[in-house]
Amino acid sequence: MEEPAPGPSGPIVVAGGGYAGLHVTLRLTARLGDHPGVELILVDRNDYHQVLTELPRVAAGTRAADAVRLPLPDLLAERVRFVRTEITGLDPAGRQLRTVAGPIGWGRLVLALGSRPNDFAIPGLAERALPMYSVGDAERVWAAVGRALDDAALATDAEEQRRRATVVVGGGGATGVELAGELAEMLPEVAVRHGLAPDRPAVLLIEAGPAILAGSSTKLVDEATRILAGLGVRVRTGAVVAAATEEGFRLTDGQVVRGGVVVWAGGVKAPGLVAESGLPTGHNGRVKVDRYLRALDHPDIYVAGDLASVTDPDSGHVLPPLAQVALEEGETVARNLHAELAGRSREAFTFHDKGFVVSVGVRRGVADVAGFTSGGRLAHLLKDAIEWEYRLSVRHLRGWDP
Ligand SMILES: Cc1cc2nc3c(=O)[nH]c(=O)nc-3n(C[C@H](O)[C@H](O)[C@H](O)COP(=O)(O)OP(=O)(O)OC[C@H]3O[C@@H](n4cnc5c(N)ncnc54)[C@H](O)[C@@H]3O)c2cc1C
Repeated sequence: MEEPAPGPSGPIVVAGGGYAGLHVTLRLTARLGDHPGVELILVDRNDYHQVLTELPRVAAGTRAADAVRLPLPDLLAERVRFVRTEITGLDPAGRQLRTVAGPIGWGRLVLALGSRPNDFAIPGLAERALPMYSVGDAERVWAAVGRALDDAALATDAEEQRRRATVVVGGGGATGVELAGELAEMLPEVAVRHGLAPDRPAVLLIEAGPAILAGSSTKLVDEATRILAGLGVRVRTGAVVAAATEEGFRLTDGQVVRGGVVVWAGGVKAPGLVAESGLPTGHNGRVKVDRYLRALDHPDIYVAGDLASVTDPDSGHVLPPLAQVALEEGETVARNLHAELAGRSREAFTFHDKGFVVSVGVRRGVADVAGFTSGGRLAHLLKDAIEWEYRLSVRHLRGWDP
């Protein structure tokens, strides 16, 4: 613990209403009862919170897009001023966010702008592969699948039908695995509705590394690979994408992986405006923070979620861009802002890993929790339970303070 800090003068501005920013806002709302004079402002380009962990379901048509857009005004208490606008930059010296709606000054800023897809400067990728980082993106994937199946139904020979009805997913991390599994399970049934034989569609998962779900236990990877194979997903590891073309992905070994729909789920990086802000950044443009989650040399700016570059002292690695990390960081930021107001000491951030759960198709999944690996229906139920619990928490957190 460090010396008590002076409280913020000027509004507390939360930039981004995603997992981290919404959590900070809800938790602070509950704690600001004894500080009625403190203004709390949440800024986001959308007037809804996106449940990103459920996007693979939207992209495979198993969940309606509107079901994963939670209207922010319904979640926020009246004391929060919500500003819907695009943030275009930030001026740390002048303590101002630049937005399309005009500048917004801060006493304390919480930067929680999440990530954007990383195309690793692979030629053609940004133009030809569909990203998967917003509800709109997921809707576009599902629409593209529908068009590809219609297009396939127009072809006369089976091989051409197969090519057009193939979805190629680049990136074998959790998003790629969830998307490939969900699509593989749904596409046979959907194909019939488009006038195709159920065995026409195919799903290919392309991963540059030696295994899917990098960083996970061998047992978890084996389980996921087994379930994917059972669903008919063809997984190619060690396949490095050199370019995205009209036909699909061209690999560094010259092979072309063809498909009617090409999706990129190969990684994320920080939004561009952060790089231009002059804040200290590290790997993938994420902001370097101190142990209280404040941007280095900027004690008035907290950073949480994907945007924060936080090193896990146990592993020595930067924590991955995950919702559970974003929520824990949001909790620490909310506590530290309240501590500043109350003249108490801030607390250092510590991550408590609750495990890793990935759905693989609509019924099964894989999980590494408390040292145990499971694969199958139980893991999928666990994933459903986590999503359900999250939805409940955002509806009830605003008035709750332990
Ligand atoms: C398809 C997919 C599946 C995932 N599945 C899982 C999973 O199963 N488990 C898990 O733990 N993690 C999962 N993740 C990762 C998880 O969603 C992220 O780690 C988490 O969303 C990070 O929270 P955040 O608050 O940092 O960013 P976000 O939740 O992305 O929030 C950022 C917010 O900032 C707003 N914003 C950004 N830029 C601007 C701007 N310029 N102006 C105004 N507003 C802006 C956005 O609209 C958004 O509301 C998944 C991610 C994806 C894409």
